[in-house]
Amino acid sequence: MKITSVRTIIVGEVRPFLFVIVETECGLTGIGEAGITWREKAIAGFIEALTPSLVGQDPRRIEHLWQVMLRCGFFPGGRIGAAAISAIDLALWDIKGKALGVPVYELLGGLVRERVACYPHIDDAEFPAMFDQCQQRVEAGWQFVRFNFPSDGDVLEPRIAVRRGVELVTGVREAVGPDIGIIIDVHTRLDPVDAVTLCRQLEPLNVFFVEDPVRCENPAAIGRLRQHTNVPVAMGEQYATKWEFREAVENDWIDYCRVDLCIAGGLTEARKIAGWCETHYIAIAPHNPLGPVSTAACLHLDLATSNFAVQECARIPGEVLSDLFPVQVPFDRGNMLPPTAPGLGVEIDESAISRYPVMDGDCPRLQRADGSFTNW
Ligand SMILES: [Mg+2]
Repeated sequence: MKITSVRTIIVGEVRPFLFVIVETECGLTGIGEAGITWREKAIAGFIEALTPSLVGQDPRRIEHLWQVMLRCGFFPGGRIGAAAISAIDLALWDIKGKALGVPVYELLGGLVRERVACYPHIDDAEFPAMFDQCQQRVEAGWQFVRFNFPSDGDVLEPRIAVRRGVELVTGVREAVGPDIGIIIDVHTRLDPVDAVTLCRQLEPLNVFFVEDPVRCENPAAIGRLRQHTNVPVAMGEQYATKWEFREAVENDWIDYCRVDLCIAGGLTEARKIAGWCETHYIAIAPHNPLGPVSTAACLHLDLATSNFAVQECARIPGEVLSDLFPVQVPFDRGNMLPPTAPGLGVEIDESAISRYPVMDGDCPRLQRADGSFTNW
């Protein structure tokens, strides 16, 4: 079996999506997806640069091709390169599953659970409306809720935002009762000093985890935060490759690992990161704000990984890009279920591409009251 072509598809629905199609001479095709939204053209360029190293190669040699893709350019590829490799890696696992006639989770060791608990995104809104949204999700079967750390429109003043963040979690806890997992995504919007203030006030509210309280460039900042609070902390969605996870895992700075299969290096790299986390009793909670292929890849990893906690599911399977992906993974009342089709279990209908035109834009921006830039 040999790879004959590698193609990218960029589409939009609410946000942009980049998919890669890897084709083989025997007619089997695999599909992958890349993360880092709004940088799709850069990732497509990286995929184009990798393609000559892939055409003519056996797609079943996934580990070998991963090493070639990461190291063939001599210089480490960084996040854009890792996102490109991620997309191709997922497509190779899809091909391998199809070639062997089994779902990908069978290639990862088989099922360790019957279903995968997920958490939805609660939309930003006035607080009473957010409490209602959380309640509605619980009534629909979800056991976890997740919402953003609040800003005031496009202005974020840390002292005010911390106070409102505590009010938000307090109100949600009252609305959903004691047993629902509450996740607040700070989205790297705070510096350590304000993150400590927030986390200490959240301690009595029994949050499942506080996500990304600070930015990722200096992981020791999480270590500093943890000296001052016992709130569970999750981090990792901005990391590319196992090396960027190394310090946070080895120093026990995180409680939950937010590996993104479409940024970190695909299933190949995410499995290794999950194994590394297992030696520190850290559970994975994969990052997934993306499309149907990312969702499927996360599901297969979660189904076959013992140290798994909860899966982000921003878009319910079947409710996003539904014409482009007429077959997506099974979902029922806040849980994803094992697919039975070979490969990743998603099917693309390329005739629907024109219904999802490419979007222009960039990430939203936040600022301080004085007009200075702050993290979104
Ligand atoms: Mg996040």
